[in-house]
Amino acid sequence: MEKLCEVCLEKKSITTCRLCGRSICSQHYTGSGLCSICSVSLCSLCRERLAITECSICSRLICEICSRQITPVVRICLQCYRRGYREWPPRDMLEKEVESFQKAVREIEHLFSSLSEKRIKSS
Ligand SMILES: [Zn+2]
Ligand SMILES: [Zn+2]
Ligand SMILES: [Zn+2]
Ligand SMILES: [Zn+2]
Repeated sequence: MEKLCEVCLEKKSITTCRLCGRSICSQHYTGSGLCSICSVSLCSLCRERLAITECSICSRLICEICSRQITPVVRICLQCYRRGYREWPPRDMLEKEVESFQKAVREIEHLFSSLSEKRIKSS
């Protein structure tokens, strides 16, 4: 009996994926020895290993080798790590947050001062 493609379960397989070992048909073979499922979940840095997660900064898919765990829950890619991101949340992200927070505070202060001005005028 011929082996069926384990991706579509319809066409007969022509080869097996070198990563997951699935039997794949010509339609689900991507040409680099990978099935269509593995090729979309490959690490975007090495294109060799399956990604385990995505970078918390650039959201690229990353494998264990091409990434660094910077906190127990945050993993970033080696490129972001080399760009100087060593802590979470990244400092420039924090600065932006602080900036928008300060802006919101200023707006509220402005609102309050215009309100109290009105109150002073009407009294
Ligand atoms: Zn198939
Ligand atoms: Zn595969
Ligand atoms: Zn990788
Ligand atoms: Zn990254």
